[in-house]
Amino acid sequence: MSKVLIPLLAVLAIVWLWRRGQQTRRVHPPHPAPHQPLPMVPCARCGVHVPRNQAISGKHGDYCCVAHRREAERDGV
Ligand SMILES: [Zn+2]
Repeated sequence: MSKVLIPLLAVLAIVWLWRRGQQTRRVHPPHPAPHQPLPMVPCARCGVHVPRNQAISGKHGDYCCVAHRREAERDGV
């Protein structure tokens, strides 16, 4: 009886461990993405893309820096 029971238990243990490993992998994704990518806006002066929360707002749009906003508003572009 034990000649049959021991290999059967070994197989069941292997299957159980394998299934547990599969479930653990599903619960914890390998590359979690906690942050959404920041929306990017192009500078109206030079075209460089900057995060919206760091862009300088001006009369004609968003700028990468205060200098470009000043230049653009001086030139009227
Ligand atoms: Zn710029």
